[in-house]
Amino acid sequence: METIATLDHGITRIDAGYVRPALDAFYLVVENGRAAFIDTGTSLAAPRALEALRQLGLTPDDVDYVMPTHVHLDHGGGAGALMAACPGARLVVHPRGAGHLVDPTRLIAGSREVYGASEMARLFGDIVPVAAERVIESADGMEIELAGRPLRLLHTEGHALHHYCVWDAASRGIFSGDTFGISYRELDSARGAFIFATTTPTQLDPAAWLATVDRLMALGPESVYLAHFGRVGDLERLADDLRTDLHSVRDLALAHAGAEDPRTAIRADLATHFLDRLAAHGVGMPREELLEFLEMDLDLNSQGLAVWLARQAR
Ligand SMILES: [Zn+2]
Repeated sequence: METIATLDHGITRIDAGYVRPALDAFYLVVENGRAAFIDTGTSLAAPRALEALRQLGLTPDDVDYVMPTHVHLDHGGGAGALMAACPGARLVVHPRGAGHLVDPTRLIAGSREVYGASEMARLFGDIVPVAAERVIESADGMEIELAGRPLRLLHTEGHALHHYCVWDAASRGIFSGDTFGISYRELDSARGAFIFATTTPTQLDPAAWLATVDRLMALGPESVYLAHFGRVGDLERLADDLRTDLHSVRDLALAHAGAEDPRTAIRADLATHFLDRLAAHGVGMPREELLEFLEMDLDLNSQGLAVWLARQAR
């Protein structure tokens, strides 16, 4: 899959190069020569963002907005680096995430806990702070105008409390960050795309997420632009699959309430759950290969479910 792919409606998909190809995307939207990035990838993806501009005959001065859907580092970690490169841009970020991008100290510490210190620099590079006066805090329903093209922000809880999605009426598309789950192209089968919930730490809320899926689908979208990975259609089915998955993984976690080591137990069940679903979907990759391919997601998703489960007990 190309690193920089031109879609339609002035939308370009950029592979952030995080971990492996086709894992983490962000998007460039261009209207009348003005540009907005939706998500940023990590700091290490900034050169790719600038290359995408160059390929479209644009410069960093043409960027009006940098719009991380949320401040998880594979989505918003590169915001500071990109803002430094695009002097006229404003950063549009959820009020619960804004402080973390202005002063990333806690973000870095939190991610170090999830990923481990040794992986931090290799995966994410340096997290660059953003000057507070360049920040626009999002509000639910707020419209950002990109050269007259409205980009509507929807505060969407479920995956994270600092998450917004972007409704782009021009493409009838939703830029969903992590809120419409993950669908890797390697897992496409004759049945189409395979989708699963992104239950990473630490603010997972399955009930809120189910309501969010309904709210997004009520817009009547034709496309969803996923961070992981790329544009998908067939949205009624995918929304149903995502709802079913959310119910399943919530129940799977609840079954280990009171267990001595819920995270390990949840991970084992989650692996079985994935393999069962993938087999039913007709994905041909051998079992060992699938477990290796999904290793990071199994680690993070089981961790997020365990954190959610611990919160239920309080
Ligand atoms: Zn996320």
